[in-house]
Amino acid sequence: MIQPVIAKRDVTKHILKRFDIRMSKKLGQNFLIDEGIVNGIVSAANIKEGETVLEIGPGIGTLTQGLAEAGAKVVAVELDSRLLEVLKQTLGGYENVRVVHGDILKVDVAKEVESEKFKVVANLPYYITTPIIMGLIEQRLPIELLVTMVQKEVALRMVASPGGKDYGALSVSVQYFTKAEIMFDVPPNSFMPPPGVDSAVIRCILRDKPAVEVMDEKMFFRVVKAAFSQRRKTLNNALKTMGIAGDKIALALEAAGVDGMRRGETLALEEFAAIADAMVKQPG
Ligand code: SAM
Repeated sequence: MIQPVIAKRDVTKHILKRFDIRMSKKLGQNFLIDEGIVNGIVSAANIKEGETVLEIGPGIGTLTQGLAEAGAKVVAVELDSRLLEVLKQTLGGYENVRVVHGDILKVDVAKEVESEKFKVVANLPYYITTPIIMGLIEQRLPIELLVTMVQKEVALRMVASPGGKDYGALSVSVQYFTKAEIMFDVPPNSFMPPPGVDSAVIRCILRDKPAVEVMDEKMFFRVVKAAFSQRRKTLNNALKTMGIAGDKIALALEAAGVDGMRRGETLALEEFAAIADAMVKQPG
């Protein structure tokens, strides 16, 4: 059976009209209408026949179709119940697609995906980009890589190096767990309706073990959060938000070999790790 390509303006318009769907801004519904971008995402994920893919927010099935054509076994989680009937029609010809109705922040992904290893591919709803990506990574699910469309600004933050305005807690968290790379930029006119921001496709390959070794991961992330909580403050002051006394902070920074007059945005992952370990080692 030959399926028409959904990633086209006129096909998308036709489907929306036929099912009388008005796109919801609240749910971040900006559907892809550019076949080249769908193919670019599929090839960035290096999909091989029979691989399992979790897709978040299939919409009317645009990217799902690209993944299914590449031979992936797709589990697609969609929150908007109005789209379930549409997906039945648009993806009806693909036996390798299963649509799950639910909120990606609530579904039991391990149970739904049931695979020893899987990839995550999505044109994400931008209003919950970070909770989705960090939630999936932090659950330590057997994810090989994530290839996702995100706001350009968020992509830049994910891959940022120390020292720039884009570098923050998100950069450290993403880079701690993954090797992240921007694959390509995507202009607003690749979507219907066009979003008010530029977009980019980012690929995050999960590391076998985190980028830096730490004694206590919770402490590491507490330090990171505190260091960026007040970007303009020096570490001496910013780390006080952890509820730790100033003299103890000074001692930990000294033991870690990090100058307390520096700002969090200048610190490499290794330096955050050294501070966190020094805090753990401190007596009392
Ligand atoms: N994949 C389609 C495409 O590329 O054209 C649609 C992408 S659109 C940017 C985001 C999709 O995520 C929408 O279909 C929206 O309904 C869905 N969505 C929004 N919030 C969601 C959530 N919490 N869980 C699952 N899907 C969600």
